[in-house]
Amino acid sequence: MARNIPNKPFLSWMGWGMLRACRRRWFLHNFGRDLPGDAGWHALAERKLTYWAAFSGQLADDGITEAIRAFKRTREWPVEMDGWLHKRATEYVKDSKNYTQAYREGRELPYVERQVLMPYFFGEYGDNSPEERIACRKVLDDAKAAVARFFETALPARLAEEPSEALMSDHKGGQFPWADQDGVPVYAVYDFAIRHDFDAVIFDWKTGKLTPEKENMALEQLHWYAQYAVKAWALPASAIRLAPVFLMATTEIHEFQVDEDRLERIREEWQTAHADIKSRMDRNTDIEGLMAEFPMTDDLRECKGCQFRSCPGYGRYLAAVNPQSP
Ligand code: SF4
Repeated sequence: MARNIPNKPFLSWMGWGMLRACRRRWFLHNFGRDLPGDAGWHALAERKLTYWAAFSGQLADDGITEAIRAFKRTREWPVEMDGWLHKRATEYVKDSKNYTQAYREGRELPYVERQVLMPYFFGEYGDNSPEERIACRKVLDDAKAAVARFFETALPARLAEEPSEALMSDHKGGQFPWADQDGVPVYAVYDFAIRHDFDAVIFDWKTGKLTPEKENMALEQLHWYAQYAVKAWALPASAIRLAPVFLMATTEIHEFQVDEDRLERIREEWQTAHADIKSRMDRNTDIEGLMAEFPMTDDLRECKGCQFRSCPGYGRYLAAVNPQSP
């Protein structure tokens, strides 16, 4: 089946974060593979990378999604998820190593369903060092704890009251949901939703600390998904509730009403950003001209953690922290 992919430029929550952090990073993620020669090859490989700090959260998300999928199929919750999480973590590492090997040998990059872990790609992990083993164990322990917390919430009992078709958790690894928002294609890769004909609750699993800022940011993200539900599920905003679930902070689930002023502001930001990117694309038919339209950030802290180490910005960061190096 052909994949349903929108035309560029499209927006996503992840891409929005890149755009705010560094416009060049957003360019490299979306267009870098089209650059000629080595620059295109490196950007193609690096766009698949993910941060180690995101690994345990991703693993927990995978585990909860798997548990809900199993429940949808069988109407029974899996009795233990630890073994599944261990296997999934091993797959992440194996995929990361295979991908890295192909990159180093200049071979075609293998398709990997999951993200590639940066420490493997950049050679910091991969030799089974004590440091690597400790880091892997911590990731696995954190993910196991987060999934165990999911089972301590009221959600498993609540989901048991729902028909399987109301449990929306199937887009991972398949088609990612997106909608045309008045001419702007916007992805909405929500973690989980309970969807009925006349209302919906959209959930986002968080494994970090709960602070007012983080909750506000989670609600911003969930409003992106609420706008998707308005468009794709034809629901009024008043019928949608949003639930950021900070698993490690509380087992309580708080549901928030959609703020329609916030939705409107987000839609306006999408329109402005899309029009801006589109105009830059329209006046630059060559890729290097387009890249010049997306400047590197001046904030070296962004470069320090950036996945695009082939970018001159990363070299600039290295030179700043170690002026003696060649
Ligand atoms: S290395 Fe720095 S300048 Fe280059 S894409 Fe990353 S954040 Fe932007």
